[in-house]
Amino acid sequence: MAGKIPQTFIDDILVRVDIVDLIDSYVPLKKAGSSYVARCPFHTEKTPSFAVTRSKQLYHCFGCGAGGNAITFLMEHGHLGFVEAVEDLADFVGVQVPRESGSAPIKKNNVTEVYQLLEQAASFYIDQLRDNEAAKVAVDYFKSRGLTGEVAREFQLGYAPDSWDALSKQFKPQALIEAGLAVAKENGSTYDRFRGRVIFPIRDRRGRVIGFGGRVLDDSLPKYLNSPETSVFHKGREVYGLYELLSKNSKPERIVVVEGYMDVIALAQFGLGYSVATLGTATSKDHLELLFRFSSELVLCFDGDKAGKAASWRAVESALPCLRDGRQVRIMQLSTGVDPDNLVREEGLEAFESRVSSAQTLSDYFFERLSQGLNLSDMEGRASLVSKARGYLEKLPNGIFQDLMQDKLKSLSKIEKLEFYPKATTLKSQRYRQSQADKKLSPMRVVVSLLLQNPEFIEVIEQKEINWAVVNLAGVDLLRQVLEIIAQHPNINQSQLVESFRGQESEKYINIMMNHDFLIPELGLKDEFSGAIDRLLQQGRDGRFLELNAKQQVEGLSDAELQELRNLINNPK
Ligand SMILES: [Zn+2]
Repeated sequence: MAGKIPQTFIDDILVRVDIVDLIDSYVPLKKAGSSYVARCPFHTEKTPSFAVTRSKQLYHCFGCGAGGNAITFLMEHGHLGFVEAVEDLADFVGVQVPRESGSAPIKKNNVTEVYQLLEQAASFYIDQLRDNEAAKVAVDYFKSRGLTGEVAREFQLGYAPDSWDALSKQFKPQALIEAGLAVAKENGSTYDRFRGRVIFPIRDRRGRVIGFGGRVLDDSLPKYLNSPETSVFHKGREVYGLYELLSKNSKPERIVVVEGYMDVIALAQFGLGYSVATLGTATSKDHLELLFRFSSELVLCFDGDKAGKAASWRAVESALPCLRDGRQVRIMQLSTGVDPDNLVREEGLEAFESRVSSAQTLSDYFFERLSQGLNLSDMEGRASLVSKARGYLEKLPNGIFQDLMQDKLKSLSKIEKLEFYPKATTLKSQRYRQSQADKKLSPMRVVVSLLLQNPEFIEVIEQKEINWAVVNLAGVDLLRQVLEIIAQHPNINQSQLVESFRGQESEKYINIMMNHDFLIPELGLKDEFSGAIDRLLQQGRDGRFLELNAKQQVEGLSDAELQELRNLINNPK
């Protein structure tokens, strides 16, 4: 079982990775002075306010405030959990994530048990397909679809016996319910969810079974049944067949998105190993973002009936915000009632692949669909097209593709001067506003920010021999925490420093302060820092003076306090 990821590994990987290379592989960066900039991937903008700094190993957006280190970027950008982000980062650097074994594994949680149970159930269904007499119908079904044993093994196909308790009599009922494998009855007893069906295990991209799909072998309904949402299965974020696809090719030129399990398997059987299926849900932005991590071209394949047409338009709507430069979505609309499974069987791989590579571009599909029923040779038709399209085009990430789509709308509507955005603020004006705001920062803010950005400045503080216990100011606890971390790790870099606050309440402030740009020349920074500490200590003394003074009048002071007050009066600075 996987244990905790050692902190030393996380520190090490943050040293090995170059955040500029990492982010550049997701969002193309341009060099600008000492940092790299791009239009922010986390909010829509016309001019770049997203900056990545190699010396700090951090990124920051002046527009929306997003910021952090390489791990934060992967978490935010890929909607990943912390552990997944660390694993992805390790992949990127090309190292294996070690796990602490023995003494202190992470609390064995429910999720781990759910994964184990799903794995056991998958093995059970596979064994049933092989050994159970009653599974002959399932074997016949697969054979009738032309599947070989090899493909059946690759996709771990199985059979759920037509029984109410095949699983329920072997496993704990509560665990089966949590894994989505059993259904609770009102009287408290449970029964198996999948009965008398061929079984398609759904695996995440790391190969773990997260749920199942099941298809009936007779005319009963529903024809297809999926696991419900569980702690490990989220239909809106997972696709069927991705693990199998990636085990054959980790960087496919394109990925074909189809609607059913059997489509994926039939295509694989015929030699097209780069398709995946959504799990009975509409194609979502999360699905597309997931797939774009592995390929820059997605071909969405839909049935030509009314439902298929509606689904393809919804998919295009989901795709628009994902279409950064370099990414492409194409639409492959089949004839009514035809699915990829049948089609590849009838016309063979070559003809099918030529349909894939000649599928309609998203822009053609988009304008064709929006122009339906409009007469573009009259002004009303063109105005109507503009009003329908404008909102969609504004959802596109900024870039050449957006420019081209806007140009196309201008040309179709014959309106040359279409304005798409209110005037954007420039990075320069943002920086000016910030430099004005700098002047209003509290000394504590300045000290913590500069210390985070220059951990070596700790020596300035050490020279001053400060008694922090009597400095009673907002933020002093955080400052002391930062000081303690730096004292313990004298060579800590900024990215690691940010990491040590992950999950804490102060994480957000640490990020903001880490990225605060002081616009002070490098050489003046240390003096600024020293001056801010003096101002901060003065504030502390003033505060303490008022505090002791007030206490003296109300309840009197101890001898030590009295001495402290005298010192403050004699040495006001
Ligand atoms: Zn932003």
